[in-house]
Amino acid sequence: MSEKQYGIYFVEGIADGAFKIYERRDAAMYLVIGDKKACLIDTAFGLTDLRSFAGQFTHLPVTVVNTHGHIDHVLGNHWFYDKGNEEVYMHPEDVELYDEVVSGYADMIRDPDVQEQFGEFIKDFDLEAITFPKTKDIREGDLIDLGGRTLEIVEFPGHTRGSILLLDKADKICYAGDSLIENLWLFLEESTSPDVYYASLKRAYDILSKAGIERIYNGHYSYKPLTLDNVKEMILGMESLLAGKGVGEPFENHAGSGLQYSFGDWKVLLRE
Ligand SMILES: [Zn+2]
Ligand SMILES: [Zn+2]
Repeated sequence: MSEKQYGIYFVEGIADGAFKIYERRDAAMYLVIGDKKACLIDTAFGLTDLRSFAGQFTHLPVTVVNTHGHIDHVLGNHWFYDKGNEEVYMHPEDVELYDEVVSGYADMIRDPDVQEQFGEFIKDFDLEAITFPKTKDIREGDLIDLGGRTLEIVEFPGHTRGSILLLDKADKICYAGDSLIENLWLFLEESTSPDVYYASLKRAYDILSKAGIERIYNGHYSYKPLTLDNVKEMILGMESLLAGKGVGEPFENHAGSGLQYSFGDWKVLLRE
């Protein structure tokens, strides 16, 4: 389906009433609309008023679910602060991480690079007035009933301890955050060991297969959604990695350093 640009967002319809919203700072979120309410899966860097933005697609109330607590998935949560009445969900294992990253929001907005690229969108932000909502817990098996459309939570400790997948079984879609992705980051302090990720991956493969999932959308740029065949490749890659067969290349990026292992199109970044 075709993509349309709205300011810093590129929006692509991925199913009837479901949209991928890609924020130009490289973070993707998803708006899934039911008959009674809508769900925004992740909130990217929050560089424009997301509640108003979602209002262009639906007038229904919006529930926010974060796939995990990373900065590029939660900073827009503050647009949904509603004096304690908000519906913002996250797995409890990532709440500490969330509290830490949202305290850096003002610094992110003041960053010269962000000012240069997004100045026109953020110039009127009143940073003193911004309040981030507290999250409500979400766990394995929880259902988000949107009316005529349901999202089911699958826990996936790995990239972070509190990472989750959301399944829309009717549309055969999985929303995967950074858990099923071409560049898997496991080198972060908040990441689990590779064997914990592997166990999550195997378990998710079984659940997604049983549910007949055909498309897997993640939280960053992708040319096309992943499929279960890609997950199978990831399983094989992890198996050779855990068997000590891969050769790691040193890498360094803004978030840290470690060793990068490549398996076809799939890369795993580990601590040294
Ligand atoms: Zn992440
Ligand atoms: Zn991310």
